[in-house]
Amino acid sequence: MKPLHTARHAAEAHLILGYLESNGVQAIVRGEFLTGGIGELPADICKVWVIDDTDVSRAHELVRQFFRGEAASIHAHEHWCCTQCGEQLEGQFTACWNCGSTRPDR
Ligand SMILES: [Zn+2]
Repeated sequence: MKPLHTARHAAEAHLILGYLESNGVQAIVRGEFLTGGIGELPADICKVWVIDDTDVSRAHELVRQFFRGEAASIHAHEHWCCTQCGEQLEGQFTACWNCGSTRPDR
């Protein structure tokens, strides 16, 4: 098993995980339960791991594709600010990953 990508937060890790699995690469997310509770934990503990080492190079290519797609979607959606906790969120998220509030109507 090899570490593939350090996510900014658990939501990103799970988006990547879903993308990998939909392309036939088996992967897991580790560290997501550490990012929720205690406030100011370092952001680099939520990682996506590839289970089969022979999938690693393909998985890296899929991650590059994922972020090209994400970059396109970021341009299509404005960032928004959580009304509950003030977190800055990217437009593809419909709920705050920090506190779970849904995005307010504009
Ligand atoms: Zn929030």
